[in-house]
Amino acid sequence: MQSKKLEAYYGLPEEVKFCKKCVMSNQRPASTAEFKHTINSKKVTLNFDEEGICDACRNAEIKEKIDWEEREERLLELLDKYRRNDGYYDCLVPGSGGKDSAFQAHVLKYKYGMNPLTVTWPPIMYTDYGYENWKNWIDIGGLDNISFRRNGKVMKLLTKLSIENLFHPFQTFILGQKNLGPRLAAKFDIPLVFYGENEAEYGNPIADNMTSLRDKSYFSFKNLDEIYLGGVSIKEIQETYEVRLSDLMAFLPPTENELEDKNIDVHYLGYYLKWTPQEVYYYAVENTGFKARPFRTQGTYSKYNSIDDKIDDLHYYTTFIKFGIGRATYDASQEIRNKHITREEGQALVKRFDGEFPDKYFNEIMEYIGMDGDYFRNELTDKFRSPHLWTIVNGVWKLRHTVNSDGVDDNK
Ligand SMILES: [Zn+2]
Repeated sequence: MQSKKLEAYYGLPEEVKFCKKCVMSNQRPASTAEFKHTINSKKVTLNFDEEGICDACRNAEIKEKIDWEEREERLLELLDKYRRNDGYYDCLVPGSGGKDSAFQAHVLKYKYGMNPLTVTWPPIMYTDYGYENWKNWIDIGGLDNISFRRNGKVMKLLTKLSIENLFHPFQTFILGQKNLGPRLAAKFDIPLVFYGENEAEYGNPIADNMTSLRDKSYFSFKNLDEIYLGGVSIKEIQETYEVRLSDLMAFLPPTENELEDKNIDVHYLGYYLKWTPQEVYYYAVENTGFKARPFRTQGTYSKYNSIDDKIDDLHYYTTFIKFGIGRATYDASQEIRNKHITREEGQALVKRFDGEFPDKYFNEIMEYIGMDGDYFRNELTDKFRSPHLWTIVNGVWKLRHTVNSDGVDDNK
């Protein structure tokens, strides 16, 4: 056992544990309101119970016992309340045209007779496949869409700040993806918004998943002083980088007041309908012309999860550095919970793919934000390695603990 305590960054648990059912560790942060995220934010992490099982796995067990017919009844009641026949939209579906949003909008429209407006906060850097899938979603799926192109200069600046200050390349995408829906719903007077799955599926506190409604703190705020983008306060961004507030508003959620006057209900369709990534994928292929990438995504083994954004692969590399959790760990854990693979198979996939450097789009991304690639790969990366997770052996960074128990400190 370690005698000297090693510092844990980001408020992560000092002792690293792995779930006995999946391959996820207790270092996995729950998703929080991005617009309050600073380098000093303390992460709330995935809870493990006394048997060493994570909340996401417990949640999957609960899901097995759900009476899905009863849930669908409740969905029908909800939809009946909002459905319109006067030619106007009755619900709004934010999405990229990836498999989940493709499924969502399509079933709402063609199975349940709703009139959705889809809205898209485009990826930071579209992949060819992502763009093609978005187009097919609209053209083959037969849906109206508003795609919102935000100020590209500000997008670039904020993405760079979030990488430099938080090592979080995906923040600008997450911000828009979460905020655009409720914001446009308020603007267009569409009182019902559907997201896909609840964050709790993957490890937010279980209580969050006991309701179909998204907590308002995710998508609204009370005053500007509590907002940070790229880890920098709104005031500082305006002063230091000479950015106007009007150029930042697209990244901010609507205010609480804006929403209350409008009575916007944000629901998770995944609460009402059984959501299995593989089945959702086949549905999207069938109905909206969704295509997987013909090659494996770097850092994992899958071909159809989150393939719209070139920055996505880098995002999972940063979670590997900050939390010791790479993309294969996320993907395998989910597939273990869905009983598509065993834990042993998951362990092997993690060993093989987790933390693989995503060099395919790397140079393009660095060029986009104007950052030196060597600086990113060395100085910046190392700054975000928490001492309780990483150590150097013969000049090479190694994890202290792994799900395969072959980390540097695993057999001490
Ligand atoms: Zn688990």
